Amino acid sequence: MQESWQLPGVPNSFQHLWTPHRLVYIKQGQQPSEEECPFCLAPAMQDDEALIVHRGKHAFVILNLFPYNSGHLLVCPYRHIATYDLATPVEVSEIGLLTQQAMTVLGKVGRSHGFNIGMNQGEVAGAGIAGHLHQHVVPRWLNDSNFFPIIAETKAIPRLLGEVRDELAQAWPK
Ligand SMILES: [Zn+2]
Repeated sequence: MQESWQLPGVPNSFQHLWTPHRLVYIKQGQQPSEEECPFCLAPAMQDDEALIVHRGKHAFVILNLFPYNSGHLLVCPYRHIATYDLATPVEVSEIGLLTQQAMTVLGKVGRSHGFNIGMNQGEVAGAGIAGHLHQHVVPRWLNDSNFFPIIAETKAIPRLLGEVRDELAQAWPK
């Protein structure tokens, strides 16, 4: 049977987009259990420790530990639910609102030229943490793709995550 990534017509940039953070989990082996789920553990930690940028009522915003680009954010519900159809209307609404705010903040602070936004639903679709829903918000700049993601399956991230978190958290609308 063909895997989805072997099918023709998949945009190249999309493949590269989700590869770096995914590889780390593949190398670590299995999907984490609910007790070890990083998106369940993070809210119990301090914001700067967990790289949380903003806490909403039903969902929160966290920096991706394995960013595709500097400022790569994840919008997660607090509840450990796997897929978007399991989210309640208030969760859907707040995930949407926080995604908008993430764009505004990244545009203001990072002066990004565009965004990739999306959710990988299920392990087969490329979800690194398939058990806990998360929406990617990836800022894009002109010429931000180079040959590193393709040949080395890694990407140079120019800024420290803690520094990026502080700046985005400060700029988040109150
Ligand atoms: Zn979880």
